[in-house]
Amino acid sequence: TTTYIPTQAPDGVAFPETTAEVQDIVRACAAHRVPVIAFGVGSSLEGHTNAPGGGISVDTSRMNRILAVNPQDLDCTVEPGVTREDLNRHLRDTGLFFPIDPGANASLGGMAATRASGTNAVRYGTMRENVLSLTAVMADGETVTTGKRAKKSSAGYDLTRLLVGSEGTLGIITSLTLKLQGIPQAISGGVCPFPSVEAACNAVIATIQMGIPVARIELVNALQMRAMKNYSKLDYPESPCLFVEFHGSDAGVAEQAETFGMIAEENGGGPFLWTSVAEERTKLWKARHDAYWSSLTLRPGAKGLSTDVCVPISRFAECVMETEADIAEMGLIAPIVGHAGDG
Ligand SMILES: Cc1cc2nc3c(=O)[nH]c(=O)nc-3n(C[C@H](O)[C@H](O)[C@H](O)COP(=O)(O)OP(=O)(O)OC[C@H]3O[C@@H](n4cnc5c(N)ncnc54)[C@H](O)[C@@H]3O)c2cc1C
Repeated sequence: TTTYIPTQAPDGVAFPETTAEVQDIVRACAAHRVPVIAFGVGSSLEGHTNAPGGGISVDTSRMNRILAVNPQDLDCTVEPGVTREDLNRHLRDTGLFFPIDPGANASLGGMAATRASGTNAVRYGTMRENVLSLTAVMADGETVTTGKRAKKSSAGYDLTRLLVGSEGTLGIITSLTLKLQGIPQAISGGVCPFPSVEAACNAVIATIQMGIPVARIELVNALQMRAMKNYSKLDYPESPCLFVEFHGSDAGVAEQAETFGMIAEENGGGPFLWTSVAEERTKLWKARHDAYWSSLTLRPGAKGLSTDVCVPISRFAECVMETEADIAEMGLIAPIVGHAGDG
């Protein structure tokens, strides 16, 4: 798995294919007081899938069927082992997509369990906003189905929100109904360099406060940019940069890009070079998604230890600048990269 925490292996691994099989496993484990650890693709970074007390790892990779797609209602129902890339490949011909993108090609069950967000969350929200209902096997082996496909309901407790983010501690998710979005008519995006991290952060704050509906706005500091240039062969200056993307109509994305360019200029940044060409955008976002792997090349042989922070957008510049000062004082190799629009 992707964690820096040493491996703590389970005693066994089960590969269920149905909800009934998950129920059998959970009941057998409960009867013998054996820990049960759900497993998606193991991309979580904080040792979530480790088994410190032994037990059975329940690998959901064989529960990978897409059970229903309702294009007219903009939703779908999937098994937990379907990955977000699998789902988007399946949806391509429908003109729809599932926007949550935490970087890794994670399973949708794992993403629900960790309440994943990612680069698109500034526009589309996190798993919290995008899971309509789910079915889970609880500790006693009974199943619970929370909610329906209905987009709104005020009846009963909001058990969906309780299970989303429960990290496998309340139950094993065996199916999920997800909200889908229409693929935007136009997508534009690009990279904008800034003279300092402070200037880049202030441009983010102004962009969000002005209500520009950015789909992605990502901060990359100078050291991270150096790593990404080496690893992903990007041709940009080794200075703090914002990676930005806009979704909408042709005219809409052009206008948003121009307004953002003006904000960047007012903050001493630019030029903002943007494009609607899909291949160029794909290269940029691939580099952004590979940021973690690229940062490992800054010190060959070392392991990565990642951590997250989130602050109200008005305090964003201050938070990043103070962190850079701490890093300098401590002499760490610590690149900074982040979903700036969410703070
Ligand atoms: C390079 C990189 C970048 C990332 N960036 C972001 C980011 O920007 N934002 C963000 O939010 N996250 C980010 N992540 C974390 C990512 O969201 C999680 O790794 C992912 O959602 C976990 O999915 P998984 O399938 O790998 O689950 P696993 O790692 O296999 O499991 C994660 C947890 O969920 C539980 N679980 C798994 N499946 C189920 C199930 N069916 N039912 C109940 N519990 C289950 C497990 O027991 C475990 O506790 C990043 C990860 C990587 C590697």
